[in-house]
Amino acid sequence: MRSRKSRKKPSLATVRYAFRKIIWPRRKLLLLGLALILLNRLSGLALPAASKFLVDDVIGKGDVELLRLLLAGVTVAIAVQPFSAFFLTKLLSVEAQHLISLLRAQVQRHIINLPIRFFDNTKSGELVSRIMTDVEGVRNLVGTGLVHLFGGVLTAIGSLFFLFFLFRISVLMTLYTLVPLTILGLISLKAFGYIRPIFRERGKINADVTGRLAESLGGIRVIKGFSAERQEIRVFEKGVARIFKNVRKSLTATSLVTSASTLLLGLASVGIMGLGSSMILEGEMTVGDFVSFTLFLGFLIAPIVQMGNIGSQITEAFAGLDRSEEILTTAREDDDPGRTVVLDDVEGHVVFQDVTFSYEPGNPVLKEVSFDAPAGSVTALVGSSGSGKTTLAGLAASFLKPDQGRVLVDGRDLSTVTLQSYRSRLGVVLQDDFLYEGTIRENILFGRPRASEEELLEAVRASHVKEFTDQFDQGLETLIGERGVKLSGGQRQRVSIARALLADPRILILDEATSNLDTESELYIQQSLAGLLRGRTTFVIAHRLSTIRQAHQILVVEAGEIVERGGHEELIRQQGRYFQLYTYQARI
Ligand code: ADP
Repeated sequence: MRSRKSRKKPSLATVRYAFRKIIWPRRKLLLLGLALILLNRLSGLALPAASKFLVDDVIGKGDVELLRLLLAGVTVAIAVQPFSAFFLTKLLSVEAQHLISLLRAQVQRHIINLPIRFFDNTKSGELVSRIMTDVEGVRNLVGTGLVHLFGGVLTAIGSLFFLFFLFRISVLMTLYTLVPLTILGLISLKAFGYIRPIFRERGKINADVTGRLAESLGGIRVIKGFSAERQEIRVFEKGVARIFKNVRKSLTATSLVTSASTLLLGLASVGIMGLGSSMILEGEMTVGDFVSFTLFLGFLIAPIVQMGNIGSQITEAFAGLDRSEEILTTAREDDDPGRTVVLDDVEGHVVFQDVTFSYEPGNPVLKEVSFDAPAGSVTALVGSSGSGKTTLAGLAASFLKPDQGRVLVDGRDLSTVTLQSYRSRLGVVLQDDFLYEGTIRENILFGRPRASEEELLEAVRASHVKEFTDQFDQGLETLIGERGVKLSGGQRQRVSIARALLADPRILILDEATSNLDTESELYIQQSLAGLLRGRTTFVIAHRLSTIRQAHQILVVEAGEIVERGGHEELIRQQGRYFQLYTYQARI
């Protein structure tokens, strides 16, 4: 993933993305919001505008007729204010939440389509945080934040107009108030420059800490087994302390702005009080003018203070969006323009031609590996741990792409084939296979949700799942996982075999489980595996002699190279590496 740590401002791409995909499609709604906010602000002007007349004409000259008019006008204006505020929030906040759900779904859709390599390098908890938390910031773009920003800008422009009034009332008093306001504006600007990178950093820290937390909860058995609780507690404490420090930094900056504004505005008020009173006493200003001055001044100041808050909201929105955009611009697996060949029907003839692959440049894990796996044949991969068997299977599954050489499927270079057309004919059964919370039926139907009942029952029978589901009251509808029964290791394996049988792939990748099973389970699994392998091009990382004996060819992989190949008997006769593995280890 690209690191954007060094970048201070949201990228132009993010701003463009925000405008094109988020703001522009909602322009009508935002315009409506803007109209509402204008109405809200304008109605707020009624009171200061009326005050001068109230003090000078109604109170000063006893004009009761004017009082009625003023009261009626101000009452209407005051009634408009809460209504406009209510609809503003209702319209925009709801839309903002809607946007969050859309964007979450979009980020998840993108992430799930990223290549396996991406997931190898990123913690799943971090991705959860990206999908759920980073996206939340956009709330401020569509929610009241953006509209308030526009509203604030408009009010600020309008304030220039007030400034004219203020000058007319008293030049000296206006100048006196402008100085602290300017200082306040400068302090706020500086503070935002400081807060922006803190917000961006917060998203990253959050993701890190969530990632580690999810990992440690997932690996709770290992943590307890090694009594490493203390260490995990310390790691998490450090994580939350990092979050705290980050929040503290931004809080200090924001509270500094708030305090500075209180101080400066307070000083301005004291000055106005003194100046105004002495001017009134000397007859240079009417009481009404003084009241208007202070109220108009309020209108000048409010948007300046408010824009401070909005500035930080928008900054937060862009920080989150920046991180989402980073994900959304990462190339998906099938974005590869070289993948154009659609396989109509997969026979399953797989050939590796001088395939070299490395996870890190300059450190090849497979070196010029070549072999031929005819359609329907079983290829067993054996060798010491770390020798490259999983990597080889990953290349055959199109999870990885060779650095050099080619993997051919039915004579077509796999790196040019559309993943959908290949993977729809691929099946994968892994050691600790992925079963999710749900019924056994749902788990088996996973790869082919629209299979018929007969097909499902056939898979259930052939995988010997039936033997144990028949004993459950709910049969195939039994819930597994947290809310239902816990399946034993052997039962889980049989469910994943049933799933693969039902999916009926042409090419099968199988990572045989190493766990010890009781004799009965072992027998069931051997039988169901035999059924599963029959007639499919299979690559099996084999641990059972029974599976190895069924293989048409055994490839012995050591340090990224195929050091021996052939059938079981033949390799035993050679008395080489395979013989060693077979003789010295109970399991291969
Ligand atoms: P095997 O399945 O035979 O145990 P693997 O194919 O898993 O071996 O691994 C082969 C080598 O590649 C090992 O040295 C392993 O450390 C390395 N390796 C495996 N996966 C990754 C990865 N995602 N990133 C970097 N190195 C990896």
